[in-house]
Amino acid sequence: MTNGTNSYQVLSRGSEFQWLDGRDAQSDNVAAAKALSKAIKTTLGPKGLDKLLISSDGTIVVTNDGASIVDRMDISHPAARSIVEIAAQQNSQVGDGTTSALVLVGELLEEAESLLEMGLHETTIARGYTLAAERARETLRERAIPVDPDDRSRLRTVARTSVTGKWDRQASEFLAEKTVDAVQSIEQDGTVDLKRITRKAIPGRSYYDSAVVEGLVIDMESSSTTPVSPELGLPDVFESATVALVDDQLTIETATGQGAVTLESPADLRDLKAYEREVYEGYVDRITDAGADVLFCQQSIDDMIQYLLTKAGVLAVERTRRDELEKVGRATGANPVGPVDDLTAADTGLAQRVERRDLGPTEVAIVDGGTGGDQVSLLLRGGTQQVADETKRVVDGCFHVLARAIEDGVVVPGGGATEIHLARDLRKSASNVPGKKQLAVEAFADALEEIPRTLAASAGMSPIDVVVELRARHHDGDHATGLRLEEESGRIGDVVEGGILEPLAVTERAITSATEAANLLVRVDEVVAVSHEEDAGEHDHDHEHGPGGVVESTDGYPWAVGHSMGH
Ligand code: ADP
Ligand code: MG
Repeated sequence: MTNGTNSYQVLSRGSEFQWLDGRDAQSDNVAAAKALSKAIKTTLGPKGLDKLLISSDGTIVVTNDGASIVDRMDISHPAARSIVEIAAQQNSQVGDGTTSALVLVGELLEEAESLLEMGLHETTIARGYTLAAERARETLRERAIPVDPDDRSRLRTVARTSVTGKWDRQASEFLAEKTVDAVQSIEQDGTVDLKRITRKAIPGRSYYDSAVVEGLVIDMESSSTTPVSPELGLPDVFESATVALVDDQLTIETATGQGAVTLESPADLRDLKAYEREVYEGYVDRITDAGADVLFCQQSIDDMIQYLLTKAGVLAVERTRRDELEKVGRATGANPVGPVDDLTAADTGLAQRVERRDLGPTEVAIVDGGTGGDQVSLLLRGGTQQVADETKRVVDGCFHVLARAIEDGVVVPGGGATEIHLARDLRKSASNVPGKKQLAVEAFADALEEIPRTLAASAGMSPIDVVVELRARHHDGDHATGLRLEEESGRIGDVVEGGILEPLAVTERAITSATEAANLLVRVDEVVAVSHEEDAGEHDHDHEHGPGGVVESTDGYPWAVGHSMGH
């Protein structure tokens, strides 16, 4: 089953369906999941290695963000896919911890294999794992460290823990600060509405030109190509600007009564031009009658209209994304209208300030609704578009992490300290677990320690020595002892003091998803591929699937883990 690039091929194209029974299916699923886990394991932690991802169109992305890698990998093996989805969920729900979850799945499966060999039943393993995960979650709660939404320095450490390793230390520090600034400026009574933060990645300059801006930042890139002469001199800043939103295009095609036109004489052309002019002026009148100073249009604006609007002193921005239109709407009270003919003064809104700013490769409009800091934007600069996008991704995760830390109000020590503590507690409790399940609980504890082991290995330390020392220190009551890899040479110490803190929700979620994924794969002992028609695009990830259940479709293609993942 392992041959070159299609290492995990289970079914070949053309076969309607095919059965894989018992251990075959199990070991194949386990192998696929373990390979996936191994592929991204080396990226864990601040000293994790980067991966260079090359897509089929030649785009190159360098990242060590687990979620980002998994997202871009071309994976079609059903077992690996179900794990990918779990990883994606981890990322969308808590914004971090994807690699940890995957490392844990890989290790739980590794442990499960040994337990199966020892003769434990699949169900016993799954039950033991479930029990261990429940206990771990409870213990985790006991370790929670409270966070105050106003505690800026603590929030910064949480942000830094989430972004370290993605850039150099100084850059991490800087962006951690910016994300905290942005989140704090919209935090209200302990809640964080992430919809109120806009992240905009604009290539060029350096990271250190990234800034938090009050209001919304809207791209004007496409507008800047229109030949509006700068001499017409629109101001750079519109104070108390009336804002109109058009969710349509501003072109001649939208004019009513337009049929096919045949030009037979110069007079016809003149008529047509006159007609066009009339339509355009009608549009402009509508807009100026409504009192608009600034107009955001969801689609394109004809050059002539753009020109006439500029002449009338109206800043017209075309191709504004619909979600941005809505945000401007929320921030200013403006109401997007369909065809511009519907626009009235009642649909317009008020912005305290609209500013045009030239950011090098692009020009933006910054709209500050002024309604008590409703919207804030993080303008991310630096590198190429790919780098800027990758930065945006990491920062997005960081916003989620901060939101979790603030809304739940609890964080736990990172750097492997929590995993060591949980493992210790599980081992102690295992003796009370009746029967063979006990072995699964102990195996779960061993699997948790793969996190500090991996972190140690990434820093060139001996995983065994490190785990032994961590266990000893925890035994002596130093429950905050973990790896502090922010130092140049990795060392062991108090991670709370070192500010290595993660939202409890991230660790909790990673444990839960890893357990669910491992249990799902351990208990699947039969894989059935269903033909396209029967499948109808359903994705069933019910982990309560008993043996013989339908697992996933093949999508009509060999199940394979793309060769991009390495082995
Ligand atoms: P994930 O995708 O799981 O978030 P990361 O690559 O972000 O993976 O690594 C997260 C792990 O790195 C966590 O266990 C976290 O506690 C640990 N970590 C973060 N910062 C440090 C640090 N300065 N020293 C040691 N470990 C750290
Ligand atoms: Mg992380």
